[in-house]
Amino acid sequence: MKYVSTRGQAPSLDFEQVLMAGLARDGGLYMPESWPVLSPDEIAGLAGKSYVEAAVTVIQPFVAGSIEPAELREIVTSAYSRFAHPAVAPLVQLDANLWLLELFHGPTLAFKDLAMQLLGLLMDRSLRRAGTRATIVAATSGDTGAAAVEAFKGREAIDLFVLFPDGRISAAQRRQMTTSGAPNVHPLSVTGTFDDCQNIVKALFNDHAFRDAYHLSAVNSINWARIMAQTVYYFTAAVALGAPHRKVSFSVPTGNFGDIFAGFVALRMGLPVERLIIATNSNDILTRTMATGRYEPRPVVATASPSMDIQLSSNFERLLFEAAGRDAARVRAMMSGFAETGSFALEPGERAGIGGVFAAARADEAETSATIAALDKASQYLADPHTAVGLTAAAKLNDNPSVPMIVLSTAHPAKFPDAIQAATGRLPAIPARLEAALAGREAFSTLAADPSAVRAFIAERSSVNAAAAS
Ligand SMILES: *Cc1c(COP(=O)(O)O)cnc(C)c1O
Repeated sequence: MKYVSTRGQAPSLDFEQVLMAGLARDGGLYMPESWPVLSPDEIAGLAGKSYVEAAVTVIQPFVAGSIEPAELREIVTSAYSRFAHPAVAPLVQLDANLWLLELFHGPTLAFKDLAMQLLGLLMDRSLRRAGTRATIVAATSGDTGAAAVEAFKGREAIDLFVLFPDGRISAAQRRQMTTSGAPNVHPLSVTGTFDDCQNIVKALFNDHAFRDAYHLSAVNSINWARIMAQTVYYFTAAVALGAPHRKVSFSVPTGNFGDIFAGFVALRMGLPVERLIIATNSNDILTRTMATGRYEPRPVVATASPSMDIQLSSNFERLLFEAAGRDAARVRAMMSGFAETGSFALEPGERAGIGGVFAAARADEAETSATIAALDKASQYLADPHTAVGLTAAAKLNDNPSVPMIVLSTAHPAKFPDAIQAATGRLPAIPARLEAALAGREAFSTLAADPSAVRAFIAERSSVNAAAAS
């Protein structure tokens, strides 16, 4: 499989190159050159298969030419061996036709583990084969950093630097990043906001000399391999509820648009999907874009669902590329207009194309809290605040009750105990794998929100540098 940039001015790459590159050099995002399609028989054949077998079937076409099926099966088996539920991503029925897809059974209790555990193994394999090392730099509002630490700690060929905003993530999230004790993990508390962290990372990647010298690599959801891994659970969930013989809908708590784009990939691969609901918290840029056709960020506000406190949904560019009929020049025009004026408008045809399967709804803080309380009362089920945003959006938009609605449950409630207690008056039980992180000794550095300070910090500690100097 070959991959092309959404902006059309970077070389096309194979899977392994895309895995290590993250962002394309023209500023675009990599996409498969064409969509592999599973026939209805192949989709029906996923029924009753293990998560690992389904993953091999869905992922194989995307890595064709880079990884043989037998090796892929080994890697996938290992990636999902650390999940606390035998189904990896189980469905829980809440109502006649309403389901939760629990994606929090991995080591850090958020859905990021489903992609990151695989990504860690894939990157490690590539680096060992090439005999090189990489420096991974990630900005995080909490869950991505924790998942990356679990996926990369102790890996010989990789140094991991995670930048998180000082005092703006939950204590549980911070401890998951700071208690690993692994010498290749470097947590960095940045005295600024998440946007400051992200801007520092972007500045480091745009410094091409630094990027090349330290073999910088990205693991946030601009990395295609993460989207690919997330496509699998759309298939397993839909097939469990009758696909391909009947359609299902998904409601997806959305921030950077990576997770829901994976649902769109499943649709392109032949999965019959009725609706993909973009569920946003008060940071509702995507809900406004769907309503007005204009993409226009506003300042970020802090909510009880912090992993969705984002106004720049990077992966939306992938959908724009599809909506524009894969016209890279059109994507470039939208993105340069955005860089100049701070907004862009969709063409009527693009808007109609997106509206054909996507819908969007926003849940404010009071609605989210009320949803958590109502579900606890009705079913004694504690949903985390991100999941509650998805449930609220599904309730607002579900006009066809004959189609199963699957709400993605993206985090375990124990990661956000304050919001749960405020809504229900009780605290979620803490799983053992979180308790270990909460009890460990913390180690991290604190730096000013200044790219040159972070650059110097990485230069001092990266073993890529040590190898080059010796
Ligand atoms: C990252 C995250 C999201 C948002 O996912 P995107 O792929 O960025 O849209 C939602 N919920 C939780 C708990 C997350 O960690």
